[in-house]
Amino acid sequence: MRKKIVAANWKMNLTLDKGEQLVNDILAAGLKLAEGHEVVIAPPFPYLVKIKQLIRNYPGISLAAQNCYSEKSGAYTGEVSAEMLQSIGVDYVILGHSERREYFAESNAQLAKKIDLALANGIKPIFCCGEPLEIRQAETQNDYVSKQLEESLFHLDAAALKNIVIAYEPIWAIGTGLTASAQQAQDMHAFIRAKIAEKYGREAALGLTILYGGSAKPSNAKELFACADVDGGLIGGASLVAADFTAIVQSF
Ligand code: PGA
Repeated sequence: MRKKIVAANWKMNLTLDKGEQLVNDILAAGLKLAEGHEVVIAPPFPYLVKIKQLIRNYPGISLAAQNCYSEKSGAYTGEVSAEMLQSIGVDYVILGHSERREYFAESNAQLAKKIDLALANGIKPIFCCGEPLEIRQAETQNDYVSKQLEESLFHLDAAALKNIVIAYEPIWAIGTGLTASAQQAQDMHAFIRAKIAEKYGREAALGLTILYGGSAKPSNAKELFACADVDGGLIGGASLVAADFTAIVQSF
């Protein structure tokens, strides 16, 4: 059975105090996680060490960074390497978020390098893909997402692919209040799984966790998570409110 994940992407929000409070409120809610279910929290870099301490006694809760750099080490002022993340016990790293692609010009090729460095350091990438509105309107979203997968992931071998989580995040649904319908999410997730099956075989595809992201909230999480190929969510806005995030986790 593949792993189910609900991940909180805080983006560039909250101060350290507020972040700690949020995590403490989530922990106090006494989440009951079923076997194979995991909660992942992705705070900004400066809070990782502190949040790691808060969650250390909660086995179903893991830590993610929101990015890492595409070079190993060296003169890259302001950047954070995968090795640094490993040294503080980070479990996952979100890579290829559409905001990084758009505002920081991250390309599929650069993301392939980030994926390799994360894996080399024992950190599991949560690789984001998804199409902008004009591509959805032109109904070419499958080709668009295919290219993202091919150019950033398909150099991996089957053993490496086992450590990848994919998050499908249609850009038109991120932070807009517009959620993909359960059918739209399911169709794309099934497409991604079929694409992985084509390249890596059926077993690899069935083992792959594929998350949905884009205005997921307590009112729609259950319906989205009930789709056969949706294995959880990457949650932005609603992850900043303890009651909303715990309600989403409980919709697993
Ligand atoms: P949202 O963000 O839930 O605020 O739409 C999701 C994401 O960007 O990961």
